[in-house]
Amino acid sequence: MNLCRLSEKLSENQAALIISPENRRYFTGFDSSDGYLVVSRQGSTFFTDSRYIEAAEDAITEADVVLLDRIYGQLEAVIKKYGCNEVLVETSRITLGEFAVLRKNMPEFSYIGTRLLDTFISEIREVKNEEEIVKLGKAQDIAEKAYLKLLEIIKPGISERDVANELEYLMRKFGADGISFDTIAASGENSSKPHAVPGDRVLQNGDFLTIDFGAVFDGYHSDTTRTVAIGEPSEEMKKVYNIVKKAQQAGVDAIRAGLGVVEYDRVARDIIAAEGYGDAFGHSLGHGVGVEIHEVPFCGPRGKGVLKAGNVISCEPGIYLPGRFGVRIEDMLLVTETGSVNFCHLSRDLIVL
Ligand code: ZN
Ligand code: ZN
Repeated sequence: MNLCRLSEKLSENQAALIISPENRRYFTGFDSSDGYLVVSRQGSTFFTDSRYIEAAEDAITEADVVLLDRIYGQLEAVIKKYGCNEVLVETSRITLGEFAVLRKNMPEFSYIGTRLLDTFISEIREVKNEEEIVKLGKAQDIAEKAYLKLLEIIKPGISERDVANELEYLMRKFGADGISFDTIAASGENSSKPHAVPGDRVLQNGDFLTIDFGAVFDGYHSDTTRTVAIGEPSEEMKKVYNIVKKAQQAGVDAIRAGLGVVEYDRVARDIIAAEGYGDAFGHSLGHGVGVEIHEVPFCGPRGKGVLKAGNVISCEPGIYLPGRFGVRIEDMLLVTETGSVNFCHLSRDLIVL
């Protein structure tokens, strides 16, 4: 059904050529390392090689499935069969080299090298359908189950690397097809780096530990962050935690269709700034999540547009004090006409381990 949504946006003489793995997967529901998808109003064809052809024929119902042989000749023939003379490409995904090769091998078409196709695809991908929402929920449930199990083993003396490895193992054990991104487990002074890489530092009493993690289920990602305390935190740590928690809650409460992404970001940012930590929150409040971990809508001070019902976005304010500690709390939410539905069921209260 997502494929129809794309073909409806095209003119009769336009063919969309989809090469990137994530968009091929998104529009066909089929995961492969090799393939080309041609979409037009008159029909759609997916080309893939012999490793995938049988599985693709079984899985794909909305497009014809054809064995890749002489690719440019095949692409040219199908685009002509659909009566198209204009080819739209994913300008944000293909390389200049790939674009040059297409033009050289299929010179009789004109090419739309603007962001037109990328815009069409973003508009479709940012509004999730029921099936996608179910998959996102499953990814989140797996990640949460793994996280709760992880909390049982976190204690002083184990390393950040152990924390990240264990969580990734647990997510896979509980049904994840993979992990959404390299798990972040940042402790003590490392927690002031929003995207710290887990290392050999061992957890100590008095640390904050920030864990940012996600599971992939059937191509769909989850994204969650929690900051926990190892042993009793200082008064300042508790104060900073509570500011982030308040900002995060305000962000969550503000979400509804029609809210500008800049305004959404500002709700949380203003709370952090009012407490004197404005300079310590450098990244955006949120981003879309779907077949990619970061996708539209991007919700930061320089974002564009408004939230739409069906968007799935993160709400993840943080405060980072270089050389000392940091706090981030992140949930993933479905935007609705009147508010939001939180995929995340984990408590946002400070947990002391
Ligand atoms: Zn995250
Ligand atoms: Zn995120």
